[in-house]
Amino acid sequence: MPSYHLSLNPATQAFLEEAKEEIQKQNLFSFHSSAQTLVSNEKETAPLFAPEINWYLKNSLDSKEEKLKTLSLLYEARAIKFDHALHQDYEESVSPSLLIIGESQSAKEFASKALESSFEVEILPYESIESIEGKLGAFVANLTDGSSREFAQGVLFREDEFASKYMGIEKVSDFEDAKELLEKLQSRLGIYRYKTTITYNPEICQYHHRREKSCSKCATLCPTFGVVNDDSKMELLFSQLDCVGCGGCISACPTGAIDYAPYPKEALYEIARLYNETTILMIPEPFLKDLEEVTLPKGITPLIIDREKFPSEMHLLTLLQESGSSLLFYSPIISRPTKEANEMLNQIYLKAYGEPALYLAQDIPTLLEALPKAHKIEKSLYRYTPKPNELRRKTFGERLRYIIKEQELGQVPSGDFIRYGEIKVDQEKCTLCLSCVGACNVNALTANSNEFTLDFNASLCTTCGYCLPSCPENAITLELSGITLAPSWFESKVMARDEMFKCIECGKPFATKKSVEKIKNLMSPLFVGNAFKLKTLECCPDCKVKVMVGFSSEADSKRETILEEVE
Ligand code: SF4
Ligand code: SF4
Repeated sequence: MPSYHLSLNPATQAFLEEAKEEIQKQNLFSFHSSAQTLVSNEKETAPLFAPEINWYLKNSLDSKEEKLKTLSLLYEARAIKFDHALHQDYEESVSPSLLIIGESQSAKEFASKALESSFEVEILPYESIESIEGKLGAFVANLTDGSSREFAQGVLFREDEFASKYMGIEKVSDFEDAKELLEKLQSRLGIYRYKTTITYNPEICQYHHRREKSCSKCATLCPTFGVVNDDSKMELLFSQLDCVGCGGCISACPTGAIDYAPYPKEALYEIARLYNETTILMIPEPFLKDLEEVTLPKGITPLIIDREKFPSEMHLLTLLQESGSSLLFYSPIISRPTKEANEMLNQIYLKAYGEPALYLAQDIPTLLEALPKAHKIEKSLYRYTPKPNELRRKTFGERLRYIIKEQELGQVPSGDFIRYGEIKVDQEKCTLCLSCVGACNVNALTANSNEFTLDFNASLCTTCGYCLPSCPENAITLELSGITLAPSWFESKVMARDEMFKCIECGKPFATKKSVEKIKNLMSPLFVGNAFKLKTLECCPDCKVKVMVGFSSEADSKRETILEEVE
């Protein structure tokens, strides 16, 4: 019998008390409230607060028996997430020094309120500030007169998209009133604590240290300085402090180089398994409070995610297939990549199963309409365990392959962020130099050394386009043709083929025929009249040396003969 350390509020305690007999009869589980308590459905009585437990027990129409099972599922989900999440803590000390930027009457009125609330206030005209640098607790404003001011937090009375991207510099227009803004500023005073939100693997990033920019979607979508691209070094710069944890960058990343520290993909894989044969209602935690009055039909189980913007097509398909049901997603805000993934998956499911995959509800009326529609989808249940460090497109491809089986279901168009497509290689131009294989860091392009072929797997390609400039022959083109729902899309196709050229001296194969031809065409005009040098163009590196030694000894003996004749 599993034993959980759960701190329960009175309502849940009463529910369990009532179900005591059932629990014992079925040997379901036991709950303990102890020093080791991990999960609580009351705030701040354990490391993890699980408000969805109360909400589910209160609002679901499930039977008592189903509720008991779901209660243990919700507990397990929280515990799994806790085990996988990165819990690195950081802190900054924040003094009460406050810079108010703007000289309007309302700025002055706010300044006097801030003074009354014990802030040390300075007020400066917007035009007097040349630049701002630093971070929460340690900002510096460089002024046009050459002086500078240090401050811990700032308030902008003008629209400034750059400065307001800093955590600690607030735009007054983002707040209802002065009270709300002051509360925000006060909440950070003293020691400001925060956690890791983003993890990053530069090895599979399609921007990091590349000679040309082929991605930076994460930085484009980031509303703050959480992630920015430094094009002078081709490096991404992360600020866990400025990151607001929305997760938009994660949904956009084609390789999975960025992951969500509080809810890494390994946690998702494990948690998704718990939802086998149930219909998931995915809810970002900040929006659970919107659903206070929503009744949950039988068989629908809440899945709480930290924030709204991180689910990618891989996250969504994992939940769909592990549950074997359509997926409900309530979130007033979603990222553009998540929206595209939602549309893409709906088209795939409509073609494969005749019904949509996801019901996305951005408001309560839409959710109420969607709740009765979501249900189990015949033959859609699929269990797949990705390999450690498996790339996002590989996992998605494996799952999609299960749906397609041997069918030909047509095409699903590419999105603007979730881009799918194929490259084409001009066989006439390709010399099989394999520069493109070296450029591709997701194994979409590979070399087959036994067959002397260049192979391409469209299901792994992120359409980053970096192979195009890497090709010295301009032989590659890229088409954003979307996903082809056919078995061949998941297989490697031969894009170019060649034969090996054998050294004319020793007979050892040493390069492809096309590359030897190319070098011969380039170099022959320079070697006209020199039979030795011309010969080296068709020799392996070892024989090339021998031929050239022969050339120099013949030249030496010729020189000696001439000298003898002169003497
Ligand atoms: S979205 Fe992913 S692959 Fe693209 S730059 Fe960001 S981390 Fe790299
Ligand atoms: S094949 Fe080319 S476009 Fe596709 S992922 Fe590799 S480098 Fe990028």
